[in-house]
Amino acid sequence: MKTLIKNGTLITASDTFKADILIEDETISRIGLNLETDSDHQVDASAKLILPGGVDPHVHLDLPMFDTVSSDDHYTGHKAAAFGGTTTAMDFVVLEHEGFDHSVDLWMKKAEKAAIDYSFHMNLTRFDDKIAKTIPSLMGMVIQTLKVFTAYNGRLRLDDGGIFKALQIARDNGMLVMAHCENGDVIETLTAQALAQGHTEPIWHALTRPAWGAVEASLRMAAMAEQADAPVYIVHMNAAGEVDMLQYARERGVKVMGETCPQYLFFTQDHLRRDDGAKWICSPPMRTKQDNTRLWQGLSNGVLQTIGTDHCPFYFDGARSIVYEGSEIAIPGKELGMHDFTKIPNGLPGIQDRMPVLWTCGVNAGYITPNQFVAYTSTNPAKIFGLYPRKGALVPGADADIVIWDPEKQVRYGVAHSHQRTDYNLFEGWELQGCPEKVFLRGKLIVNGDEWKGKRGGGKFLKRNAGEVL
Ligand SMILES: [Zn+2]
Repeated sequence: MKTLIKNGTLITASDTFKADILIEDETISRIGLNLETDSDHQVDASAKLILPGGVDPHVHLDLPMFDTVSSDDHYTGHKAAAFGGTTTAMDFVVLEHEGFDHSVDLWMKKAEKAAIDYSFHMNLTRFDDKIAKTIPSLMGMVIQTLKVFTAYNGRLRLDDGGIFKALQIARDNGMLVMAHCENGDVIETLTAQALAQGHTEPIWHALTRPAWGAVEASLRMAAMAEQADAPVYIVHMNAAGEVDMLQYARERGVKVMGETCPQYLFFTQDHLRRDDGAKWICSPPMRTKQDNTRLWQGLSNGVLQTIGTDHCPFYFDGARSIVYEGSEIAIPGKELGMHDFTKIPNGLPGIQDRMPVLWTCGVNAGYITPNQFVAYTSTNPAKIFGLYPRKGALVPGADADIVIWDPEKQVRYGVAHSHQRTDYNLFEGWELQGCPEKVFLRGKLIVNGDEWKGKRGGGKFLKRNAGEVL
């Protein structure tokens, strides 16, 4: 089966040029001007942009948390991703008591309904000699990434010795450590004090997780990576000082890379003071306007490497059902913490919003170029996580994950427009210009305007190679 996309303007991480693209079966076979061929389908992309499908390196689908579960599974979350132009998503396997094999099996089962291509990172939330010995076995499962936490004492956190040893093991096996950086001890202390003083409102979520903890933990993580001679990838950078620390370490040759997420570019902790403040609760929390600005600078000047979403949606009011694909469904959500901020599930929707929102508020607003947009949302994550050039590239031989992007299309964005399975949207009422028109996954048209043409089980588990340090 051959599809010819004619007259589009291709945007890659480095170039912008006019060309036609020929898709044969699942891959891009040719790119060039005035391609003539006996294609089965032709798509006219005049006045449209052609981007490589988005790669979201950080999502949490079907993740159990606080007596509920994140409300998108590997089908609904992937479908929403596709409508936003993302064709590859990576989520995190919870480390069960039984060990890595069992944990990965569970996640493979959950992902059988995948609608876009996917891969997993492994949460390394316990560390002892036995676990240390089995870490290299993850390479056999082509899961080359370990996530560690410097917060969530007694639940997810490793001590610095464990993190340092994990970095050494990663170095020796060609793996990459990803790090959630906050100060667990400070957070536990402040949280206990806030509760003892009777503070229960959502804003206390932010007030008990200060930015300095993230700043200090990011520098600590970079310093440990340098001492272990291993690369490290810091997830969801949210504070100005973290960007400063990233820059400081990178200027000194430390192999540290940084990801931010849309929520940290647009919102502040003041959103948590609203009556519906629970909608904005995620960890780490949103910070201040100055932090938003410094993160944009970090994207403009290339200190940061990627933009993920940390998509981990919950209903605002899970007692009320919503209709999804014709069925009513209710899933307990933020209301679980109505009387105690520590019981509000941590996380936000965003997997569909990422690219349209960043196009309008990043590219159209002049903070990043179209090429940087592609680099941060697709090419760089593909390179860092060992998927390039199969993903994140418009080159012959690459998977035909292609987005035909309409830079003129205007949308009043919000929950009615979104396929994320939740009852609210952070960008409700925002006027966006620039959206995906058609989305191809390995040559198959899965989104055509407002029409869903993808399917459960249409996504593939990706065998990754060793990643690059950017
Ligand atoms: Zn996350």
